[in-house]
This record gives sequence, structure tokens and C-alpha cells, in this order.
Amino acid sequence: MDYIYLDNNATTPLLPVVWEAMRPYLTETFGNPSSAHAAGRRARRALEEARESLAAHLGAEAPEVLFTSGATEANNLALFGLCGESPGHLLASAVEHPSVSEPLRQLSTGGFHLDLLPVDKHGLVPVSSLTEHLRPDTRLVAVMLANHETGALQPISSLVKQLRDWAAERAAAAPYFHCDATQAVGKVPVHFHDLGVDTLALSAHKFHGPKGIGALVVRRGTPLRPRTWGGHQQYGRRPGTEPVALAVGLACALDYACRDMKERLAHVRRLRERFLAHLQAHAAPIVLNGPDDRCCAADPTGLPHTINVSFPGVPADVLLMNLDLAGVACSTGSACSSGSLLPSPVLQAMGVAEEVLRSALRFSLSPLLSLPAIEEAARRIAAVVSRLRSRPSIPA
Ligand code: PMP
Repeated sequence: MDYIYLDNNATTPLLPVVWEAMRPYLTETFGNPSSAHAAGRRARRALEEARESLAAHLGAEAPEVLFTSGATEANNLALFGLCGESPGHLLASAVEHPSVSEPLRQLSTGGFHLDLLPVDKHGLVPVSSLTEHLRPDTRLVAVMLANHETGALQPISSLVKQLRDWAAERAAAAPYFHCDATQAVGKVPVHFHDLGVDTLALSAHKFHGPKGIGALVVRRGTPLRPRTWGGHQQYGRRPGTEPVALAVGLACALDYACRDMKERLAHVRRLRERFLAHLQAHAAPIVLNGPDDRCCAADPTGLPHTINVSFPGVPADVLLMNLDLAGVACSTGSACSSGSLLPSPVLQAMGVAEEVLRSALRFSLSPLLSLPAIEEAARRIAAVVSRLRSRPSIPA
């Protein structure tokens, strides 16, 4: 067992079955889905079947699914496409991924006012805080489903309900609600219409699908302004020749992830328990960041896949590099944060103490990991932590 990959929130390997499903659409069935001839029609059929399959797994309708290049594009498309003309008010949780927080920051430099919804010490948005921050000119609220650094699961349907009740009391149209569900889709059941959001973003490479494809699900009737122009494809909302093979890969990966999802989730919980038990016994003291009800609660507020843990006394960047040498891949946070060895903005928003912040690492699991692999990873981590802690002084 050489290299143990515990950075599945950054990306995952493509499943062989997904590659096999995609391959014909890169070779023999290569037509442009907009072409009228048989080759084009074959490609169109595969594309629309992929859209239908994705929609069915997400509790949406096929015309509500727009294929994008990934979640970054999907988030940008939703935020720029829904905000309307400035000035106006935008609201987002303080723990959004940079592909949400950065477009919002761009909008705020262009005349929008941006407010952040604070999170509690577990990284959760208190439902009651939403109405305190809403204003008559609020255009858009953005709250993610599962956090990329802590796995915290936000109470999206309760927040949407608060939003709609608030608007109904004022006989006003409710602001739009965008949800970045990138770290939840393929791991837990996600039902677009039950969540009640207007738009939802996802990305295939987070659940063993190909890189370069994601989707934005847009509630029927939502007036979404396109970000790009130049073609009629995807109702003109996201023009350009659709990448059929990638769409087939996305649908196949989600199909695979949704089959036996309960069993896979139970396996990831076991991996998590085994991993933490070893670290608690052999790398103490450790501090677990994020919700702590993930293995026992009936309705947990976090995903078991993400384990954000601090090793007080050991700087995270030093530990990360030593773990890489020991054959364990993990991260200090989002790979999309500029300078990803900097302290995590998510943990900062949670008010985590300085020492805990500076020694925090994110280990993210996949159901494909085996129990022996996770035990071996925990052994290596505990050994490296003990070695680093026993040094007289650790260079920062
Ligand atoms: N949102 C979240 C929560 C993510 O974790 C990521 C990937 N790090 C993204 C959006 C961006 O996804 P993509 O790589 O598909 O652009």
C-alpha cells in the first residue's frame, strides 16, 4: 500500500466504468449534437439521455439541467445570471467556496452591497439569522449544501422556507436562492425540488466522474441571464457545442454513486470512525473541526466524508509536506483558495482558536477506500505527528 489518497474533496479518480461509458462518444459516436444527420442525432440522443438521467437522480426535470464546464462556471452563471442590474443587496454564508465568494465580491465592486451570514462554531448558518439580514432590495441569497472544508450540511430547506415566509409577509417576490451542492451530490441524496432552491450547482469530478463537466439546475421559469452568447444550445442559456462524452460520464458517475448510496455512506462512516479512533488513541491531542454528530445522529449536520482535524503544536503546512513524504495526500483547505497553505477562511469564520486554525488539515474520504487503507493512513499520520511534536522546535 504505497500512496493513500485522502483528498477526495479536491478531486477523485475516474471510475473505469465511467470511462467505458464515455469512450464511444469520443471515438465512433463523435457527432455534433446540433447536426441534423444521423451522426448528430445519435450524439443528441446520448446527450439528452444523460440530461434526463441526471435530472431524475436530482429530483429535477430534464429541461432544468444545464451542462457547464464544472461547478465554478455553474456558480458564476447562477450568481451573475440572477442578480439583475445594480444596485441591489446580496447575501451569502461566510463559508462559501471561492467560486461563490469571488463572483459575489466582483459584483460588490460593481455596485451591489454584499452581506455575509455568520456561522456558529460548527460552521452552520443559524436559520434565524437569515431574516435579520434580509432587506427589501435583497436580490439573491447563496448558501452551499455541504461545506468543502468541514463537511457541515447547511439547513437549506429551512432557510428557503424562512426566505419565502419573509417575502410572503411583505407580499413581495422572494429573492432568488442559489445553492452550491458540489460537495453533497453523489455522496448523499440531493433532491432539487424538495430543497426548494432556484438554482443548484454540481461537478462530476467530485464523485468519480470526469473533470471539465458539471451542471447548473435552474428551476423552471427562472429568468437566468446568460454569461456567454453565440449559440442556441441549451436554450441559449449556456451556448456552445455540448461535450457529449463528458455529459455521459457525469450521468454515469452519478448513476453509480446513487446506486447503493446508503451502503456507501455507511462504509464511509466506518472509515471515519476507524480513522478518528486511531488518531485519538495515537496522535492526541487532536481537535475535530465542524459538526460532531456525524456518526451517531439520525439526522447529522455534517457529511462523514470530510474530516477536518487539528493537531495543536504542529503547523499544518509542515505536517502536510511530511505526510506527503510518508505517502498520505491531504490538504489544508480548498485547492481553489489562492495560496492554499494559508489558514482556512472557513475555520476563521467559525471562530476557531489560532493554534487550532494553524494546525488544521482536511482529510476527505471516498467510498472506494478500504478499511486497511484508512487504518494504514491513520498509523502514518500518528507516527508523523508524534515525530514532529517530539522535535525541540518546528520551523514554521
Ligand atoms: N464548490 C465547492 C464546494 C467545491 O468544493 C468546488 C471544488 N473545489 C467547487 C465549487 C468548484 O468545482 P469545479 O472544480 O468543478 O469548478
